[in-house]
Amino acid sequence: MSEAIRTFDSAVHGEQQEEIPCPLCGGRNTDEVLIARDLLFAKPGTYPLVRCQACTMEYVSPRPTGASLGAHYPDDYFGYSLHEDAPAWLRPFLQSMAKGISRKRIAYLEQTTGRIAEDTDILDVGCGVNRLLECIRDERGVTGTGIDFKPEIVQYVREKLQMPIMEGSLDSAGLPAESYDVVFMMEYIEHELHPRAVLEEARRVLRPGGHLALEIPYAGAWIGRFFGRFWWNLDIPRHLIFFTPKTLEEMLDQCGFELVKINPFTLPLYVGMSIVQALGLRHWRKYEGLYPILSSFLALPLLPFQWLMPEFLFVVARAK
Ligand SMILES: [Zn+2]
Repeated sequence: MSEAIRTFDSAVHGEQQEEIPCPLCGGRNTDEVLIARDLLFAKPGTYPLVRCQACTMEYVSPRPTGASLGAHYPDDYFGYSLHEDAPAWLRPFLQSMAKGISRKRIAYLEQTTGRIAEDTDILDVGCGVNRLLECIRDERGVTGTGIDFKPEIVQYVREKLQMPIMEGSLDSAGLPAESYDVVFMMEYIEHELHPRAVLEEARRVLRPGGHLALEIPYAGAWIGRFFGRFWWNLDIPRHLIFFTPKTLEEMLDQCGFELVKINPFTLPLYVGMSIVQALGLRHWRKYEGLYPILSSFLALPLLPFQWLMPEFLFVVARAK
């Protein structure tokens, strides 16, 4: 297995980049899936999404190095947006959508684990503004712990929500072994430069028989292939690795997990975001509140059919 990573400076992107071997099997022979641009922040340069010829793992290479990656997460990145920042008339809509997403995540986990018990030790890696743990606390009476690397977000969760949170990464947290029953990583692992190391660390902090819940973009979903480089869930270069059920099962197995359940799903009207991008209406983003409304409007005729368009996977794996 070749681990050599080639690092270089890209003048076009204005950043340091690295070319990596396949994160799953270490292979070097790849086919090009597509060439992506950063459609969210319109930065210069392109990024190839490649597929390993040996194991079919899809990943971005060359990609920004760890040192370059922070520049791709400016303060207005939507993962950090608070409902308080949105226009007042839009807030109830956003709040009920966020609550719906959290409830769905809890339901998917509980399909495998049964109802979350009051003594469950829960960790949410990449918790953002802590909506999931807030919902679990309100509806199951369990206060979990979050981890996020954005200092402003950590301060918000600690001071405004008064909930426990650690600043940094799962790796830097240095948690005791076998101390959690459930680890959530919601739309997190695809952002990681070293997903294998993160999964191994998750396995270490989980008790045997504990559960890892992952939510990720569904690589190989037809909707993603259809929209190609305009697929909203592509979000390169923030998303760096794309799992199919097969490649995910393989990596989980290598990291000490047994895959228990995969739910392919989409969110109401989510496909509208990809339609907006494909129509080149991305600049509507500056009109803040109107943007989700426009994408929802465009997706409305497809609402009865959206169960045919899964573009996320919710995955539950058990620590072996
Ligand atoms: Zn491979």
